[in-house]
Amino acid sequence: MLRTKTCYIKRLEENQFHKLIIGAALKDYQTIEDYAYYFTHAGADVIDISAFPHSVISARKAIEEAIKENPNLAEPLIMVSVNIGKDPHFRRIELNEENCTECLACVPTCPSDAFVILSEASGSQDRTDEILTSPAAPQDDKFFYKPDLCFGCGLCLPSCQFEALKFKNWSAFEPNSLQELQELGASAIEIHLNNDLEAFKTFYFNMETEFELESFCIGSAQMNELELREATLTIIDTVETKHGSQKPFIIQVDGRPMSGASKNSTDQNCIDAAKSIIDLQSEQVFIQLAGGVTENTFQKAFEQGLKVNGVAIGSYARKQISNRNSKDDRIKEAINIVQNSSNQREHLGQMIKL
Ligand code: SF4
Ligand code: SF4
Repeated sequence: MLRTKTCYIKRLEENQFHKLIIGAALKDYQTIEDYAYYFTHAGADVIDISAFPHSVISARKAIEEAIKENPNLAEPLIMVSVNIGKDPHFRRIELNEENCTECLACVPTCPSDAFVILSEASGSQDRTDEILTSPAAPQDDKFFYKPDLCFGCGLCLPSCQFEALKFKNWSAFEPNSLQELQELGASAIEIHLNNDLEAFKTFYFNMETEFELESFCIGSAQMNELELREATLTIIDTVETKHGSQKPFIIQVDGRPMSGASKNSTDQNCIDAAKSIIDLQSEQVFIQLAGGVTENTFQKAFEQGLKVNGVAIGSYARKQISNRNSKDDRIKEAINIVQNSSNQREHLGQMIKL
């Protein structure tokens, strides 16, 4: 069943919109396929991926597979994430092999399993779980880093005492590939602005491909309250100038990017940032929370009187799903995350009405 514009706009209007994020920098195509499959089963309105042709192909394949299994599922929109200049969503860890002592301290810290231990003796079989529960790695085991699995959360950095890990900015997409991405099946785009509003305007006015749904990400990590408002007003003005005042779009307010897998809750950051622009919400301008968002964030925002239209759940969802072993359990977990998020918000809404 195709997710029509009427359908997802209604979800935004009813404060029910759920975007599930695979990762703007994640380029491991099997991982993209796996999560797109679980996120489709979960009922995601949008699945957010890196802006590569093969990322779109992988997501498309997984969505079709999930819908073939359950024809009642609504087809999520595929959203490609692009950056204007440096952005925390577009960075990856670079491993300095000369400094690395293969101490393995970083291995358990990565929610994306980007660090693995392979046994050369047993034909490169992944022994990560086994080794981590034993005192030391045997000599014939080798530590590997898989950069395509890194989505830039930074959780591994404090674990390395040997200065072997550092961030490298990573511009993931080619501006002239947008038409191809759309033809392959991407119907939504997210533009990460940072604080360079002039560069954003230039990019947006020159963007020839028009996507069905557009989202603009602004973040409290790069902007103070005044800058968040200025960026929001610039986005509204720029979209209206290009497309008129009837085009609906999303402003995604980011708190602490990619922190949903952290032990401590960080979603108050995006809630606070959204409070500073919520009065700019309108019939066409929808506000969505991101950055440390969990299944509880919708309720938390509602309890604080913040009626956002949607949430974007990324690292938290991927971590919860990857903690399950079987395919069926992973599907159930994915469904639970979106249902819990929606039900809690609905429940609270009813209590407020009463
Ligand atoms: S913690 Fe640092 S030194 Fe140890 S395995 Fe990881 S990258 Fe190498
Ligand atoms: S930044 Fe995050 S995803 Fe990337 S390797 Fe480190 S822990 Fe893994």
